[in-house]
Amino acid sequence: MDVEQFRKAGYAAIDRICDYFNSLEKLPVVSRVEPGYMKDLVPAEAPENGEDFDKIAEDYQKVIIPGLTRWQHPSFFAYFPTGCTFEGILADLYSSSVANPGFNWSASPACTELEVITMDWAAKMLGLSPEFYNSSEVGGGVVQTSASDSVLVAVVAARSRYQAAHPETKMEDLVIYATTQTHSLGAKAAVVLGLQIRTIEVEWKDSYCLRGDGLRAAFEADEKLGRKPFILIGTVGTTSSGAVDNISEIAQVLKEYPDVWLHIDAAWAGVALACPEYREALYLPQINEAATSFCTNFHKWGLVNFDFSAMWVRDRKLLTEALDVTPIFLRTKQGDEGTAIDYRNWHLGLGRKFRSIKLWFVLRSYGVTGFQNHIRKGIKLNKIFSDLVEKSEILSLVTEPSLALTVFRITPPNEENYTVAAVNQLNLHFHNTLSARDDIMLTKTDLNGRICIRLAVGSSRTEETHIRQAYETIEQVASASIQSWLQ
Ligand code: PLP
Repeated sequence: MDVEQFRKAGYAAIDRICDYFNSLEKLPVVSRVEPGYMKDLVPAEAPENGEDFDKIAEDYQKVIIPGLTRWQHPSFFAYFPTGCTFEGILADLYSSSVANPGFNWSASPACTELEVITMDWAAKMLGLSPEFYNSSEVGGGVVQTSASDSVLVAVVAARSRYQAAHPETKMEDLVIYATTQTHSLGAKAAVVLGLQIRTIEVEWKDSYCLRGDGLRAAFEADEKLGRKPFILIGTVGTTSSGAVDNISEIAQVLKEYPDVWLHIDAAWAGVALACPEYREALYLPQINEAATSFCTNFHKWGLVNFDFSAMWVRDRKLLTEALDVTPIFLRTKQGDEGTAIDYRNWHLGLGRKFRSIKLWFVLRSYGVTGFQNHIRKGIKLNKIFSDLVEKSEILSLVTEPSLALTVFRITPPNEENYTVAAVNQLNLHFHNTLSARDDIMLTKTDLNGRICIRLAVGSSRTEETHIRQAYETIEQVASASIQSWLQ
């Protein structure tokens, strides 16, 4: 394809994308294809000779569009919202056009410098302490691919810091701490690094958050067995129920364990810190005081297209001392002199995408006020939904609504006469029936043995009418599920 062919195909692609968004609401949320659907549509071998691009683009419509789950649909309430803005799409296009793996400052100065500046913009918008700013030249922010990568990097750095302070420690004694509600990223980091993980039980009465006493008890019990706590993954906004670990109590306990790194995983909820009214409830002052690292995904609720996991550390040296492996061919004058950040030493890979351009476009186009409005809108819409659930005679809230997430379930009349397993069956049937529809999508979870349904708001296209429509559908399905369950 030459430049003029690209110009023509590019305009056509933008037209197609616009048509897609204009028709989104009429399309099903859930794809109805069956596993293997693509085998009949795409040959098993790459073509011997190049094909005409018009045909390739046509096939995108025919082959790909039917197999998409529409995360941007206003009635998508599953998992968590995923950011998708036109600013983000355009930024991806520009970033792709320069195809630049800016691992060192000199590999493309603009890539590094924009990341340095925009990560400070984001830190300021979220209210993080200046210690986390790149401009502090001590701490700093880096874009990772995912919250799972951020945890992996934090664990590697925490292990390295711990081993430097306690060279006699055996690897097999090191323990990562998390809770039963921590995202699977904790367990995955343990698997990848061959480390132990301890998941502390959290309870309904504490709204599934980690409390200081539970943490202390786990540390003390493990220390008696010779185990060494070296990192705790605290969550601000768990995936299942939006629980917020009690960072205030955790910070108190960690004063007695100064070798333990506190990583805050706020992958989904962290962007709500942009709104000052939520900062106290999300423990921002304590995070600022005690967290060694903090992560939030702008690609979830934060309007930036996948991928964009923002990670900040209080001391950048902890990352670079653990991850700096510099063969001669990667040495640069600026790196040697320390006059510029070489982000390759802050993450796992070498090459990295030019992602900061997405945050730059989004924050400039929305402004901090526009970003805050987006967050507040999601919380307001979720409140409308959770109020409806509260008034319902057959549905009930399982936990207090958390920001833009409601967790609920069917409570049958005279629930006390049924076993937990029977009520779980009812809720599974309810969720299966909802999942058989293509006009709405919600996911389920299990909170300490109880099956619940989650409604996660946050797509920028969701309006009050979609929430009310969703509630109507959910209540109808719940009512039918109870009827058939009682028979
Ligand atoms: N942490 C929390 C609290 C999440 O909700 C999620 C995603 O659902 C993750 C981590 C995983 O994020 P990632 O896909 O970026 O690794």
